[in-house]
Amino acid sequence: MVVIDRLDNLQDIAGWSVWKKPVAPVPIDSCFKLEDIPGKGMGMVATRLIHAGELICAERPIVVTTRNVAVNGEETYNDGTFHRNCITGLSEKARAAILSLKNSFPPSSGLDMLPGMLKSNYLEVDMTERPDPERPYSGCFPILSRINHDCSPSANYFFAFEPYCGQLWAARDIPDGGEITIAYTTLPAPRVDRQAHLSERYFFTCTCVACSLPPIEAARSDTRRIGLSKLLARSSTRSGLISAAELQQGVKWAEDEGLAAIAAHAAYYGAGNLAMCGDGELALEWARRGRDACRMVEGEGSYNVRELEQLLALSPQDLRLLARLGRRP
Ligand SMILES: [Zn+2]
Repeated sequence: MVVIDRLDNLQDIAGWSVWKKPVAPVPIDSCFKLEDIPGKGMGMVATRLIHAGELICAERPIVVTTRNVAVNGEETYNDGTFHRNCITGLSEKARAAILSLKNSFPPSSGLDMLPGMLKSNYLEVDMTERPDPERPYSGCFPILSRINHDCSPSANYFFAFEPYCGQLWAARDIPDGGEITIAYTTLPAPRVDRQAHLSERYFFTCTCVACSLPPIEAARSDTRRIGLSKLLARSSTRSGLISAAELQQGVKWAEDEGLAAIAAHAAYYGAGNLAMCGDGELALEWARRGRDACRMVEGEGSYNVRELEQLLALSPQDLRLLARLGRRP
């Protein structure tokens, strides 16, 4: 594995005990294959019925990079010199895996094949136990980077810091032969915004079911996703503005749109929000729902699951008291 970062960060990362531990848990029986998907290139397909909440795949990235990387001149980045030097230390097998990934960038972008391949296939990874938006990192994976996008994805990509691996969790039951997909863009957003981002960043036009709805249904889908986006923005600030009825509505919108991970995050934020309002019983009820939903799409390595477990250790009386004191649980 290659990590591209500042020297002081690298010295710290090299000393992590996680490198001595295996990537676990890895499913024993593989339930997928990689194959050509018509009109999409390589993709991942289920080779048996996969149940919602199953771990489909877990693997470590081959290349990890800070997104705040300071390259010595844009030229060495664009012409591939920088990245070619970076991957010289990889094993032949790992280098071959990187060099077999698809480069989505057109020649007109002026980007060399190697940085093009990496940028086309990066997934978010964390370098801290609690995800830190101030320190964004990306990683390239031999298998996970080959999964295609869908605006109502059948699976959820999650980065588990403790075993230090990317994990793929089934977001719903996936039939034998069904495509396994993840999200490349913000899903609680109207079709026009999703398509604009996918086109600008990944150079393709999404033709998924949600993007191909007839006008009236498409407008309804947009209304649900815009409503969900507003609700998440309000509840994630924990400003105490979300009622249980609004939260219920938001989760219903997410479920109607086939967005299991978004429904889980809405319940997570909603539980914290209700706790701030001092509604102890309701907060705990939503904390249980949020914990179970987050565990299904992120597993036990989920920071949200651990936070909700801490909330569930409190009583309704504790929560009411904390709310009266204006303190977060
Ligand atoms: Zn789509």
